[in-house]
Amino acid sequence: METFPVETRERTEVVDVTGLVEGAVRNSGVHEGAAVVQTPHTTTAVVINEREGRLMQDLLDWAARMAPDGAGYRHDGIDGNAHAHLRGIMMGASVSVPVTEGRLALGTWQSVLFVELDGPRSRRLNVQVLGD
Ligand code: ZN
Repeated sequence: METFPVETRERTEVVDVTGLVEGAVRNSGVHEGAAVVQTPHTTTAVVINEREGRLMQDLLDWAARMAPDGAGYRHDGIDGNAHAHLRGIMMGASVSVPVTEGRLALGTWQSVLFVELDGPRSRRLNVQVLGD
């Protein structure tokens, strides 16, 4: 498994990590298999979608509508970030992408996106490439 550092700069932010995942696939030498991409943090997410600036803001705005900050959550009594945990749960902590002919089988408009929901922080991204 490879672990990559991801430095986020905003409270909420979308970071395109497709290049990191492609690098892990290259380093693995795997031609046919899959890449599992996972965040080890509970207030971040990993999703696949189109990296378009306005859509990225729409994603963050949508998450904020679904899980507003400070809506009386019990967990806020501990560290005040229940909204970020819940947004992370909605989006998911991992994705898997098929690898074929040594490349990620992403669609033309697809990117692998790391979503910061309680930044800025020093984060990590795990990529495990399986196959042969
Ligand atoms: Zn928390």
